[in-house]
Amino acid sequence: MAETDCLFCKIRDGAIPTTKIHEDALSFAFRDIKPQAPTHILVCPKQHIATLNDLRPEHEALAGHLLAIGAKLARDEGLAERGWRALFNVNRDGGQLVFHIHLHVLGGRPFGWPPG
Ligand code: AMP
Ligand code: ZN
Repeated sequence: MAETDCLFCKIRDGAIPTTKIHEDALSFAFRDIKPQAPTHILVCPKQHIATLNDLRPEHEALAGHLLAIGAKLARDEGLAERGWRALFNVNRDGGQLVFHIHLHVLGGRPFGWPPG
C-alpha cells in the first residue's frame, strides 16, 4: 500500500482526527477507535513501515523506541503494577488490518492466554 493511502500516515499528518496522546521526533500514539480494553493505545513510528516483516537492522533503535514509549504510556495510565499487554499483529493470520506498524498497548482488564 502506498504511503498516501495509509490510514496511520494520514493520522500522523493530522488529516484524520484522533485522540493523540504522544508525539516525538520518531513516533506518535493515539487511542484506538474501537478499544478492546479500558486502555487501548496504538504507538506508531512516523516512518511508514508496513509490517514487522519489513523491519531491517537500521530500524532496531526505532523498534526499541516504540516499546519504550509504550511502556511509558502504560505507566502513565497507571497500568505498570497490575500489568498490561503489548503486541504487534502481523499480516493475515496475525490479524493485522492497518499496514503501518503499530504497537498495541492494552490494559485495565485481565487478558487470557493463549490469545484467540
Ligand atoms: P491491527 O488489526 O493490528 O492492524 O489494528 C488496527 C487498529 O486500528 C484496530 O484496533 C482499529 O480499531 C484501529 N483503528 C482503525 N481506524 C482507526 C482510527 N481512525 N483511529 C484510531 N484507531 C483506529
Ligand atoms: Zn503509513
